Parts: sequence; structure tokens; C-alpha cells
Amino acid sequence: MSAASRPTLVMASANAHKVREIAEIVGDRFTILPRPDDVPDVVEDAPDLVGNARLKAVAICAATGRAAVADDTGLEVDALDGAPGVHSARFAGEPTDSAANRRLVLERLVGVAPVARTARFRTVAFVAFPDGAELVAEGVVEGRIRESASGDSGFGYDPVFVPDDGDGRTLAEMTATEKHAVSARGRAFRRLADLLADPPADSIADPPPAADRAG
Ligand code: IMP
Repeated sequence: MSAASRPTLVMASANAHKVREIAEIVGDRFTILPRPDDVPDVVEDAPDLVGNARLKAVAICAATGRAAVADDTGLEVDALDGAPGVHSARFAGEPTDSAANRRLVLERLVGVAPVARTARFRTVAFVAFPDGAELVAEGVVEGRIRESASGDSGFGYDPVFVPDDGDGRTLAEMTATEKHAVSARGRAFRRLADLLADPPADSIADPPPAADRAG
């Protein structure tokens, strides 16, 4: 795709880990502009991942007047009835502390047999366009929670999550390329890039003008 016809989206997230991963995943399939510094943080108080991703994308789209992309991710642990889920960022309380969140998951799973430690990451990628149109894509990776953390790459819950589609390493023991190939974010953003290139009529309320989609 030529640079001129590539969609351009403003990134709603200020999380440097996420922004780097998204840029690595989409490559040159769309252009990402950084979130402007003067836009205040959006309160993520929706009851689900789609709602939170929509809140962030719509707010940044309204603030910038440009198509904006947001993602929201949750870790769903079956033995914890789907927790931390939409509360993944603040599972161990405020302010967000990834190490404390990981420790709490491991603590709650003490005594749970390996076979019952099933879990998944779910990522929702959401685009809001200035004319009110919306595009949403979801990615899921199934796996298991280890009994202890391992690995220094990635971020968040990566050191305790072993994807089923792997060789037994945690996401934090993989290279970035290996993680993106199986991760929920990788799957969601590759799908989103496909939808941006060829938006299906039922995924988009009012298709934005081509000039807007091309940024
Ligand atoms: P959010 O999408 O920023 O709300 O992320 C929610 C929580 O999930 C945060 O604690 C993140 O650290 C964690 N998280 C998000 N994406 C990933 C990932 O790719 N791997 C591991 N943890 C993640």
C-alpha cells in the first residue's frame, strides 16, 4: 500500500509498551500518529473491553478531529471466574502496578492444579471516525497461568502467561516477533488492518469518506 493511500489513525493510548507493540504489529499497513500531549486521560469506567476501547477512541477522535484507534486488553482466568478481566490494570488496586497484579493472580491460584489454570488474553481494537463511524476487531490467545513468573520481555501479565500455541515459554520469554504472532493484540490489530483495508458494510455504521480513511 502506498503511503498516500494508507489509513492514518491517532493513537488513543499513552502506554509506551502498547504503542510500540501496535506499531510493530501493523508495520506499514496503517500510519499511527502519537496521542497529543494536551489531551486529558479518559476515565475507563465502561463495564467491558469494547466499552472502554470505544470511550478512549471516541474521546481522542473528538479532541483531534481525526480517526483515532484505542485498544483495551483483559486477562480472563477461568479459575477466578474470568477475573481480572476488564479490571486487569488495577487488579491489585491503584495506582496500576503490574508486578503486584501478577503476584495477586499467582496468589489467588495457589493450590489450583495445572490443568485448571486455563486463561486467555482478550484484546479489543477500536477505531472511531470523525463522522461517527466505528470499526472494531477482537483478538484472543488461549493459554495457562504458570505457578511463578518467568521472563523479562513484554509487559503486564506476560511473565505468568504461557500461550497454548507456543512451546511452553511465557509471552515474556519470547521475542517481540514471536509474541506478536500469537498474542491477542497481534490478532486484533492484524484483523483491524484487514478491516481498514476493506471495511465490511456491517462493521461500519456509515463508511467514512475515502479521504478520511486515507488520513
Ligand atoms: P489496558 O488495555 O491498558 O487496560 O491493559 C489492562 C492490563 O492488562 C494492564 O495491567 C496491562 O499491563 C495488561 N496488559 C495489556 N496488554 C498486555 C499484554 O500484551 N501482555 C500482558 N499484559 C497486558
